[in-house]
Amino acid sequence: MIEAGTENGEPYVVLGDTVLYPEGGGQPADRGRVGGIIVTDVRKSDGVILHILEQPLETGDVTVELDWARRFDHMQQHTAQHLLTAVAADRFGWPTTAFHLGEHVSDVELDVAAIDEEQLRSLENAVAAEVRAARPVTARRVSRDEYERTDVRSRGLPAGHAGDVRLVEIDGVDLNTCGGTHCSSTAELEAIKLLGTESLRGGTRVFYVAGERLRRRLGQEVERTAALRGVLGAADDELIGAAELRIEQVKDGARTVRRLEDELTVAIAHKLAGRTEAVSVEHVGNHDLSFMQRLAREFASLDPTRAVPLTAGGEEAGFFLLAAGEMSDVDVTEIGPRIAEAMGGSGGGKGRMFQGRVSRLSDRAAAVALLPR
Ligand SMILES: [Zn+2]
Repeated sequence: MIEAGTENGEPYVVLGDTVLYPEGGGQPADRGRVGGIIVTDVRKSDGVILHILEQPLETGDVTVELDWARRFDHMQQHTAQHLLTAVAADRFGWPTTAFHLGEHVSDVELDVAAIDEEQLRSLENAVAAEVRAARPVTARRVSRDEYERTDVRSRGLPAGHAGDVRLVEIDGVDLNTCGGTHCSSTAELEAIKLLGTESLRGGTRVFYVAGERLRRRLGQEVERTAALRGVLGAADDELIGAAELRIEQVKDGARTVRRLEDELTVAIAHKLAGRTEAVSVEHVGNHDLSFMQRLAREFASLDPTRAVPLTAGGEEAGFFLLAAGEMSDVDVTEIGPRIAEAMGGSGGGKGRMFQGRVSRLSDRAAAVALLPR
């Protein structure tokens, strides 16, 4: 170990040598352990590689362990990008302008306004042929002079780059500058699936997954489809139709409920209008505020001279609504809060309607006795 310290409160170590890759070139940093301590990040800072650790580490010789499953996944996604970039540029004339290795899905941004479904399948097929060809992938360092003389598909060297240049070659397909980690053959990519496209800044993002991720994702899709077969009681090719049918049935059901509620508000309003007592509270069971408002409006149209107090809810907690008709002299904004308070609640209102939540519905008879008779 060369150095131990902290940066922004995080302990780090700098090592004489390391197998952990720091974030760069679109490839995320490796994970692993240094001296048994979990590495939470690896990054380059002023030319040195900082291993950010979960806890501080004493100086001395250390063993570095690499999270190989994560690294190999990154190698597969990253090498897939090299292949995708080369095939898209050379066979289709679509240069790559950006690359993003995501946690679930990766993408390349291609300099083309749009890619249709058929072109996407052609690109996928062309890439698959190169996977099947099991082309060797190798890396080597060349001098700056040799680099200048070599025909490299390059985005140019990073600012301040000095010394040798690392070239990565997919035999017969691609030669590029890159400092990342790669598979040793396109066969190690297993397969590349293009998932779809998205327009962005005049170009097109192509989303893909490669390798073990692809198998894992397919496994998840298969599980999800099996679960949906169970939920909808339909075969695979009937799933969408079955889901659409269920949604239609739910909408139909909601329309029926709405119609029955409207009929019910009219019936209750007529019942209330027929009462002789000046003030009585009507409890409408487990209906919501919207139902109470519709009922209040219905009642006000039948008898504009009276005010109607309504409650809804379960044993104790629920809603309170007080509505006064056009010709009623009850001031709901004055007396509403007092009635709500008498039922352990509060609320608000304007004009001729006051509503709120209450916590003691059993006190409703005493509470509405506050209304003028
Ligand atoms: Zn690379």
